[in-house]
Amino acid sequence: MGTREYDDGVTGDIHAASAEAWRTLAERLPNYDLITPGTPAFVCLMGECPVHCCKRFSVSLGERDRDRLSAVHGIAPDAFLEMVDGEPLAMPLAQPFLLARREGQCVLLRDDLLCGVHEGRPDACRLYPHFVLFFERETLRPNHADTAGMRTSLAAALAGEMAAVDYLPLLVRHRDCPGFSGAPIAEGEWRGLLAETARLQYADGEPGWPE
Ligand code: SF4
Ligand code: SF4
Repeated sequence: MGTREYDDGVTGDIHAASAEAWRTLAERLPNYDLITPGTPAFVCLMGECPVHCCKRFSVSLGERDRDRLSAVHGIAPDAFLEMVDGEPLAMPLAQPFLLARREGQCVLLRDDLLCGVHEGRPDACRLYPHFVLFFERETLRPNHADTAGMRTSLAAALAGEMAAVDYLPLLVRHRDCPGFSGAPIAEGEWRGLLAETARLQYADGEPGWPE
C-alpha cells in the first residue's frame, strides 16, 4: 500500500501499552503477530510466494470496492463476484460480497501470478497481510462497532495522548504471510502503517481518519 511515512517522534507509551495488552491477547489470536518498530518490513514475494494469499484465501468486499473495481477496469460485477442464480452472493456482513474463485484461486489472478486488477483491487487485498485490531483499554474486549471512538483513539495514539485512547489500536500481521523479510521498520514507518491500515480497514471512504 502507499503508506505515508510519519516523522520519527514521541508516541507516548503506545508501545508499552500494546506490549502489555499483547501478553494477554496473543494466546487468543494465534494467527497474528504484533508489529512494532524493529519488525522486518513487508516485501511481497508475489509469483515466488509458496503461500500466495490470492490462492489461499477467499476475499470479501463491499459496495465501494465493487464499484471501484468495475469502474477502474471496465468489467461487470458478474465477472468477478461469486454469483447465485444470476445475483451476487450477498452475506449479512458489512462486506457482503465475495470475489469469485475458479480452480482454487481468485478469478482475477493472472497466469503470471500477479493481480489482474492491481489498481482497482479491493481494500482487503490492499490491507493484507496487515490488520489493525481495536481493544477496550480496561477490559481488552474487541471493538468493531464504535468507529467514531476508534478514529478518535487512533488519532490520540498517533499524537502520543494515551489518556485519550479508549480503544487501543494494535497493528498486527497475519502469520501465514512469509513476506516479512525486509529491513526493520522505523518508528515513523510504523506510525504511517498503523494509520494507513486502520483507514483502509475501517473508514470505508469516511473522511477524518488519520492519514
Ligand atoms: S502471502 Fe504475503 S508474500 Fe505471499 S503473495 Fe500474499 S502478500 Fe505476498
Ligand atoms: S483481486 Fe488481485 S490481489 Fe485480490 S485476491 Fe484477486 S488477484 Fe489477489
